[in-house]
Amino acid sequence: MHELSLADGMLKTVLEAAKKENAKKIKSIKLEMGEILLVNTEQLTFCFDVISKGTIAEGAKLEITFLKPRAICNKCGKEFNINSENDFPLLHISCDCGSNDVKILSGREFNIKSIKIEEN
Ligand SMILES: [Zn+2]
Repeated sequence: MHELSLADGMLKTVLEAAKKENAKKIKSIKLEMGEILLVNTEQLTFCFDVISKGTIAEGAKLEITFLKPRAICNKCGKEFNINSENDFPLLHISCDCGSNDVKILSGREFNIKSIKIEEN
């Protein structure tokens, strides 16, 4: 499952960061996520809650910001935002010039921006 492996990677990263800071507890985690990762945030939160039980990250709140994906047209060179509601599935992306020879530049990010901790 996609969400479980993301949650697992996230937990490892935040625990490591918290350890360096001598944290007693992780209160919240700020995430940036590209929209075309197609992550189910409810499932991600659920997975995280389950695997973080018994760690200092237990009960941490996930604050998720979505990033608009961008693409570039190989024909006219224009960069544009992908409208994820209209353009899914991604096979149907096309540029204003009519070309659908486009390359996806971003939208698959999964970044942990910051964590809020309670110090010892
Ligand atoms: Zn174009």
